[in-house]
Amino acid sequence: MNTNEMRIDAAFKELKMPGATRSWRPLIRDAQTKGQAPGVFLAALLESELISRRENRLRMLLAEAHFPEAKTLDTFDFTAQPSVPKNKVLALASADFLKQRESVVCIGPPGTGKTHLSSAIGVSCIHAGFRVRFTTVTALANDLLAARDNHTLTRAFRKWQRYSLVILDELGFVPLSRDGAQVLFQFISDRYDNGKSLVITTNLEFSKWTEVLHDPQMTAALLDRLTHRCHIFEHKGESYRFRESLKKKGRN
Ligand code: ADP
Ligand code: MG
Repeated sequence: MNTNEMRIDAAFKELKMPGATRSWRPLIRDAQTKGQAPGVFLAALLESELISRRENRLRMLLAEAHFPEAKTLDTFDFTAQPSVPKNKVLALASADFLKQRESVVCIGPPGTGKTHLSSAIGVSCIHAGFRVRFTTVTALANDLLAARDNHTLTRAFRKWQRYSLVILDELGFVPLSRDGAQVLFQFISDRYDNGKSLVITTNLEFSKWTEVLHDPQMTAALLDRLTHRCHIFEHKGESYRFRESLKKKGRN
């Protein structure tokens, strides 16, 4: 490596430009063989750095979201779930609902695509540049209860506020303690008051939420906030996997 190459590598390293570090040599070779003008070379170099930064950010945002599986909208079969209108879901995928401070609730029995759909909406929001965090209701309640016991609940709320979207999966699957319900209520109120969106999935219709949240008044106040600006999807029918396996058996 000559001195000039070493200077270039050192400069890109100090400037924290990994894309340019990787691409400047092949791009120079390309420019020489094609007789490109210096401006063409410089544009290509800067673009390679931008692409690399976008990819890194996307990877970071997807990792911090903690999705249980990498589900996207293009693998969601809307014909299997006619009560979930495709055009409405695609409108959510633009992430405009986050700017409008709107939330989403997916209601329906197990296996009907609630986790798939909510994760896919989350992935779309990440592609639109937003920070997203997926968690189960139980895990969130435990996290908040631990913070409350450590007298760090305010800090915990601030931590969750960093996310433009929080996906709360499986409300109603596991019973919550009274304290768990209380912190969940505080959490949802906090997000509402700060204009931050939620996606909640649940097997329980709204009239049954008191069963997991215990307190009817608290539940009414929570539903009032949540459904103020809200898209509701009712997933119906039998488990998708179960139906798919029946179809396969029918073919054999
Ligand atoms: P739920 O959260 O409602 O219990 P999941 O989203 O976990 O259901 O769905 C169970 C499995 O079936 C997942 O592998 C999911 O990808 C698949 N699935 C469910 N509904 C659909 C659908 N409409 N199109 C494609 N896959 C689906
Ligand atoms: Mg699920």
